[in-house]
Amino acid sequence: MAGRVEGKVAFITGAARGQGRSHAVRLAQEGADIIAVDICKQVRENMVIPTATSDDLAMTADLVKETGRRIVTAEVDVRDFDALKAAVDSGVEQLGRLDIVVANAGIGNGGDTLDKTSEEDWQEMIDINLSGIWKSVKAAVPHVIAGGNGGSIILTSSVGGLKAYPQTGAYIAAKHGVVGLARLFAVELGQHSIRVNSIHPTNVNTPMFMNEGTMKMFRPDLENPGPDDMAIVAKLMHVLPIGWVEPEDISNAVLFLASDESRYITGLPMTVDAGSMLK
Ligand code: NDP
Repeated sequence: MAGRVEGKVAFITGAARGQGRSHAVRLAQEGADIIAVDICKQVRENMVIPTATSDDLAMTADLVKETGRRIVTAEVDVRDFDALKAAVDSGVEQLGRLDIVVANAGIGNGGDTLDKTSEEDWQEMIDINLSGIWKSVKAAVPHVIAGGNGGSIILTSSVGGLKAYPQTGAYIAAKHGVVGLARLFAVELGQHSIRVNSIHPTNVNTPMFMNEGTMKMFRPDLENPGPDDMAIVAKLMHVLPIGWVEPEDISNAVLFLASDESRYITGLPMTVDAGSMLK
């Protein structure tokens, strides 16, 4: 039986680990070849969350190949348009076409209220989580248009792109901006039958969320909180009785948006949030 994205090619950013890796594997399982990029190093020194590595991106490649699909990888910073363009151009040359873009790479700094956020932290967040999404689409979309088959673009925002949480101001602003980008691209690219939607996960079980800093943020009352301690508080965010979702849950939504099953859905902010927006 043909896969749900059989014969298509998908370009995915932030694919060395977490959701990006999961999207790559899920789309490959359903028949797509993959162009995968990731920075594979610290965005800057002293990042709280441990960074992805070249080995992580190689692991993504292995997992995609195990499905029988092809993959082209490159170590690219989404702030660097020329490098993004070179990676996509090379990927399309090798794989023959481009149909799907998943602009997923992002960072998750936080901790300060907006009035205390440094200009450096603000700028870095906007450069990666907002401008990086724009540059990823800008680098890729000429190939999708040239293919003449339409296409699907999925921009990773967050529940934090639809509502505000304190002490994450730059992140919230960037993720709200992603909704604007999705709407604008949807309006401009519709004439080419290219659909553009944003996806809005709640907490996802990836290194960005499942780390010591987040556990301490959720449980400042405990000396050494663990996942079970965090879950008690994280559950309060949701209608469904869970503290977080798994990367595969986001990938299944990405797959639906990438496939022709959603052929007339465009400009949609799609939540995968266990009901967080109802709270
Ligand atoms: P991860 O930290 O596991 O993965 C993010 C990946 O993006 C990392 O491999 C990281 O590389 C890469 N990356 C970061 N900056 C850049 C850059 N400038 N250029 C290229 N690659 C980069 O987190 P997730 O998989 O969870 O995050 C994926 C997306 O989902 C992000 O946009 C995030 O904001 C969003 N999201 C996450 C939620 C969560 O709870 N986890 C909730 C809602 C949204 P490296 O580690 O080497 O820096």
